Amino acid sequence: MGPPGAGKGTQAKVVADHFGVPAISTGDIFRANVSEGTELGVKAKRYMDAGEYVPDDVTNLMVRNRIDEKDAEPGFLLDGYPRTLAQVEELDGMIKHTGHQLDAVLVLTVDDEELVQRLLERAKTEGRADDTEEVIRRRQEVYSEQTEPLIGVYRDRGILVEVDGMGEVDEVTKRIFDALDVVPQS
Ligand code: ADP
Repeated sequence: MGPPGAGKGTQAKVVADHFGVPAISTGDIFRANVSEGTELGVKAKRYMDAGEYVPDDVTNLMVRNRIDEKDAEPGFLLDGYPRTLAQVEELDGMIKHTGHQLDAVLVLTVDDEELVQRLLERAKTEGRADDTEEVIRRRQEVYSEQTEPLIGVYRDRGILVEVDGMGEVDEVTKRIFDALDVVPQS
């Protein structure tokens, strides 16, 4: 977890590789569907372009189908899901069904000022439709309203791992691995 621009996607790939599991990014799956023009992509696009969350029913079904795939059998890392309290409940139900459990919920923290700078920088290189200043602000608001409360939920469950996401990519990766080592594996 972490606000837009925290570095979730970058770090998710490294961590998932380390554990030999797929990194499942809801944002990436939505973007792939948008560029392929699928029905799901058409549904998701107007929300994404506005910086709003795609409705829970659409997102939940997509994640359910994805984690039922063979490569996710040994485990998986979710990047960008869950993002609402309803998704938290839904995920609990999904993993009960697949026999998995949540080992850790990792939150990357980054200063607001740095976040905007990173996203504007990314806008220049990647050209994502939702990386304009206005939409970035809306995504930040939606994150604090709908997703930040999840941090407390997972803290209460004792599986929250908070990592400072400031600095170089490699430094952050090192902090993540250090922090994950102290999570008891049960
Ligand atoms: P970021 O975290 O940088 O905003 P992502 O690539 O993770 O970007 O997500 C891009 C967009 O995809 C979000 O703004 C939202 O519209 C949609 N999205 C991704 N994950 C979810 C989710 N779990 N629930 C609802 N919408 C989502």
